[in-house]
Amino acid sequence: MSRDTEEVKNVEEGNILSETSGNRIFVLQCAHCKTLLGDTGSLVSAQVEQSAIVLSKAVNIQVETSNFEVSNSGIDSGSAFHLVKCSCCSTVIGRRYKATPRSLDHIRDMYTLFESNLLSYPLSCSVETSSTETPKYDNPSQTLHEVTNDMRAMQQMLVILGDRILRLESKLSKMNAS
Ligand SMILES: [Zn+2]
Repeated sequence: MSRDTEEVKNVEEGNILSETSGNRIFVLQCAHCKTLLGDTGSLVSAQVEQSAIVLSKAVNIQVETSNFEVSNSGIDSGSAFHLVKCSCCSTVIGRRYKATPRSLDHIRDMYTLFESNLLSYPLSCSVETSSTETPKYDNPSQTLHEVTNDMRAMQQMLVILGDRILRLESKLSKMNAS
């Protein structure tokens, strides 16, 4: 646990990390106050239509359980959810669905966080310079499992980033046209 915290701290202090092949997990922060919210180690799915990512675990968040919100349009039309707020700056950053259409069953009771409220940083063990400790991979099957998870997380993040680029491009071409 303490090692994880230390890694996160290093990422925050390291500012821009070089994009090495050692990238494995993305750390997610509140875009408004930079509070740590979670990482893609607990990624459930990427909701491209909603520009959101879904985590099974999140930290420093507050779920507004006092009332239900209902969606009347979009892919989640007919769903009921609680608002998820950043516990540090109280900005609404996402939703915790309690009732969903069948297609969204897998994100119910998870944390659906909107990408516009998130900052993400790749967390890489290969840029760890202060520690001489080498990663312990004595269990080959565990390593393979980790690599598979890394690939999945990377793919999901690429989908989200690709979607963001498409939206920016269409905005740009509209601006140029007018
Ligand atoms: Zn915040």
